[in-house]
Amino acid sequence: MESQGKLSQRVLLSLGSNIDPRVNIREAVRRIGTLADVTPLRVSSLYRSERLGDAATTDFHNAAMTILTEISPDALLTALNAIEHELGRVRTVRWGDRTIDIDIILFGDIRMDTPRLTIPHPGFRTRPFVLLPSIEIDPTFHDIDGTPFTELLQHAVGRCERLEGTSPPLF
Ligand code: AMP
Repeated sequence: MESQGKLSQRVLLSLGSNIDPRVNIREAVRRIGTLADVTPLRVSSLYRSERLGDAATTDFHNAAMTILTEISPDALLTALNAIEHELGRVRTVRWGDRTIDIDIILFGDIRMDTPRLTIPHPGFRTRPFVLLPSIEIDPTFHDIDGTPFTELLQHAVGRCERLEGTSPPLF
């Protein structure tokens, strides 16, 4: 889509939290949707997934979100990091832990690999907590090499279940 000479890209974001997750994911979605030059498109239900590794003690909640934006991947990451920081800072005082993780999974069909940003996100292909909510939003999502997310899901490892009654805007 062309607007004022800039190219709008559809971006797929993955959100995760294991502290007050419904509140934090909902708040992150709200803040992302009000960013300048960002149009929110779709949000998935909430999913519960098992923790990767041993660093956290509890399961995570995850969701996917699509947005339309004209800003660069770097500028978007800066804005998302600010939201992570704002939510994290509020909660760090109270809970002493990280509250929200926001990853850029796809950015149109852009491929990039810099010290700050790798797109598509490294590792998403084997993570059901990214693939399942993304497929809910758009069953035709595919990797930039053309592999459908539904096919990637066959090889994804880990428990991940949709939480009933969490379809947007309910959670
Ligand atoms: P994490 O500890 O998983 O939150 O990693 C955060 C850092 O990962 C960010 O500060 C980014 O610089 C880096 N990063 C690299 N690629 C991506 C991506 N596709 N989406 C989000 N963060 C990324």
